[in-house]
Amino acid sequence: MPTATNGKVLLRVRPRGFCAGVVRAVDIVELALEAYGAPVYVHHEIVHNTYVVEQLRRRGAIFVEAIEEVPHGAVLVFSAHGVPPTVRDEAKSRALKVIDATCPLVTKVHLEALKFAREQRTIILIGHRDHQEIVGTSGEAPDRTIVVDSVAAVDALEVQDPDKLSFLTQTTLSLYDTQEIVARLRQKFPFIQGPASDDICYATQNRQEAVEQVQSAIDRFRKGHRCEVARRRFARGLDRGRVRSGSPCGAG
Ligand code: SF4
Repeated sequence: MPTATNGKVLLRVRPRGFCAGVVRAVDIVELALEAYGAPVYVHHEIVHNTYVVEQLRRRGAIFVEAIEEVPHGAVLVFSAHGVPPTVRDEAKSRALKVIDATCPLVTKVHLEALKFAREQRTIILIGHRDHQEIVGTSGEAPDRTIVVDSVAAVDALEVQDPDKLSFLTQTTLSLYDTQEIVARLRQKFPFIQGPASDDICYATQNRQEAVEQVQSAIDRFRKGHRCEVARRRFARGLDRGRVRSGSPCGAG
C-alpha cells in the first residue's frame, strides 16, 4: 500500500528484510553467545548489515576471515553461506567447537555438487567466483568445477566431455541473468543436466519479483506524472502543436 508524505510517495516492498536463512544464522550466533558466553567466533560476517553485525560484536561475537584467527578449542559458527570441506577440516584440526549455520538451501546445492562429482561429471557452477557461497560449493569438487558468471563465459567455455556435464547455480543470483546463462548452456551443450529443482532460493526470487512490481508501479507513476504535466500545459494553451487530442496521455 503506497503512503504519500509531503508530495512524496513511499512504496513498501513485500517481502523485505532478511531471508529465513540469515535470520536462522543470526539466531544461532545469539544462542551460542547465551550457551557458551563470549567470545563466539563467526566465520565471515553473518549478514551484510552493519547494524546487526555491530550489535553481535558488542555482545561478544568476533568475525574472522580465516580459521587460523580462531584460538584452539574456541566456539566457531559457520555463516549461512556455507564453507568448503577444507575449512571444516581446518576447524577440526584446531579442535574448535563448530556450530554450522549454513542455510539448508545452500547445503542442498553442496549435496547436488557431491552427487554430480560422484557421477564423474564436470560441474558448471553459475555464480560469482569470489562469493562465499561459490567458494564453499566449488570446494566440494574443486577438480570438477568450473565457475561461470555470464553468457560470454559460457561462449568461451571448453570442456573435455560435453556429454558428462551438469550445472548448478548460486542461490542468490538474478533470476533473469541466470535464465539467460542456463539457456546458452543448454543450447551449447544439449546433454547438460541441471539440478532436480531450481537452486535460486525462494527468498531471492520473491524479493526480485517484489522489486520488479515496485519498478512497474514507479514506471506507471512517472508516466501518470508526465501526462498530468502534459494535460496542464495543454489546458494553458501550451504545446498545442505537439500534443494532439487523443494522445496516449489524453492531454486533449
Ligand atoms: S539460500 Fe536463500 S534463504 Fe538461504 S541464506 Fe541464501 S538467500 Fe537466505
